[in-house]
Amino acid sequence: MTWGELFRRTAEHAIAYRAWVGQAPVGRPADAAALRAAFGGTLNKRGTDPVKVLDELVHAAQGGIVATTGPRFFGFVVGGSLRSATAAEILAVAWDQNAFNGLLAPAAVAAEQAAGTWLKELLGIPDTASVGFVTGGQAANTVGLAAARHQVLAQLGWDVETDGLGGAPRVPVLASAERHATIDRALRLLGFGTAGLTQVAADSNGAIDIDALTRALPDGPAIVCLQAGNVNTGACDNLRAACDLVHERGGWVHVDGAFGLWAAASPQLRELVDGIELADSWACDGHKWLNVPYDSGFAFCSRPQVHAAAVSYTAAYLVGTGEMAAAADYTLESSRRARGFATWAALRELGSDGVAELIERCCRLARRFADKLRDAGLEVANDVVLNQVLVSFGDDERTERVIDAIQRDGTCWMGATTWHGRRLMRISVSSAATTDSDVDKSVAAILRCNSGAR
Ligand SMILES: *Cc1c(COP(=O)(O)O)cnc(C)c1O
Repeated sequence: MTWGELFRRTAEHAIAYRAWVGQAPVGRPADAAALRAAFGGTLNKRGTDPVKVLDELVHAAQGGIVATTGPRFFGFVVGGSLRSATAAEILAVAWDQNAFNGLLAPAAVAAEQAAGTWLKELLGIPDTASVGFVTGGQAANTVGLAAARHQVLAQLGWDVETDGLGGAPRVPVLASAERHATIDRALRLLGFGTAGLTQVAADSNGAIDIDALTRALPDGPAIVCLQAGNVNTGACDNLRAACDLVHERGGWVHVDGAFGLWAAASPQLRELVDGIELADSWACDGHKWLNVPYDSGFAFCSRPQVHAAAVSYTAAYLVGTGEMAAAADYTLESSRRARGFATWAALRELGSDGVAELIERCCRLARRFADKLRDAGLEVANDVVLNQVLVSFGDDERTERVIDAIQRDGTCWMGATTWHGRRLMRISVSSAATTDSDVDKSVAAILRCNSGAR
């Protein structure tokens, strides 16, 4: 066995998959017991030839690979994966770089720095902000809120990194009632707990209610979590108004923009995230709307020193000082995969015009879904401002039955959600592979399942 033999075979498997995935049935329920059996058994005592291991892996995984990277997967907000980004990811693994710092992985760190600069330009984040390439939105929210915790407590004369939270002044934390659940987990991990969180009401499309926020804000500094891109509706909070309110009182604004922050990259949609540059920290994903493979998230912070003080584990004084600036000082990981290559490649493949076009196309296709389903007499339950569409098929039980039928049908895949007390089909358009014809085929399948449902 040579590397050539193994890698060529790997490439053949990958090529065959990518050629097939566009026609593949999407998300038919997997047989979990069969998969467990295929992967299970006792661990062999002797080793196995790598080519054989690969063939065994491909065989075992059959029936358990979901076509999320194909053009008709509209569940969650997952995105697909661009060609260059996928290839770059494969190389990053082959190179096996540890992107801890510039000494250990100089190319990986340089790629992150270049891609980080481009990301800030595209997303409307000040170019002085720091960026950590993290695992995803969850990690980016955790890093952003750790920076918030550092800064707000420092203003109150408390060094949380040294003294912990026991005996610390209480920091008010506010977030929209429609925040993403990863905000709650970040608050738990950071020792704030969730019970102390002040929930602020949202408006009819799921953006934070600015009047309610004004009433809820305490006089002193608070941490306020805003959102660009409600996971159900796509709604974006009024960032400018909220940032002004919070900053007047010396507080910190963290924006969870896992997918919605990408609106900033489009001249047509930028208005939705007007004021984005005013925030103090931002979370965004590469593996959703930028169509970079997993795992790829970005944690930005307006104050690099605060960012590093909150999460670095080398001395803060090393940070920002020349080549030793550790990429890992802005993330929660120590040893880490060279994540920047794939993002760098995706941005090069698309260019800034291509990023804008991708975001605009997905939003246009979401409106196409909404228009066609509405024309067929169905109810679209949200204002389709971005890439998310919520559909009702009657009462909750009937909606569940249609969603179940579409998931079994295999033409496309959509999930269910509960929003404002109702069960709804949730359609997310975030893949670069999706075309008008994919939407039309999917609408036809939905209507077929709807008329088949009682
Ligand atoms: C997906 C999502 C997250 C979590 O991101 P992961 O990449 O899954 O960790 C957080 N917030 C919002 C609004 C999201 O859509």
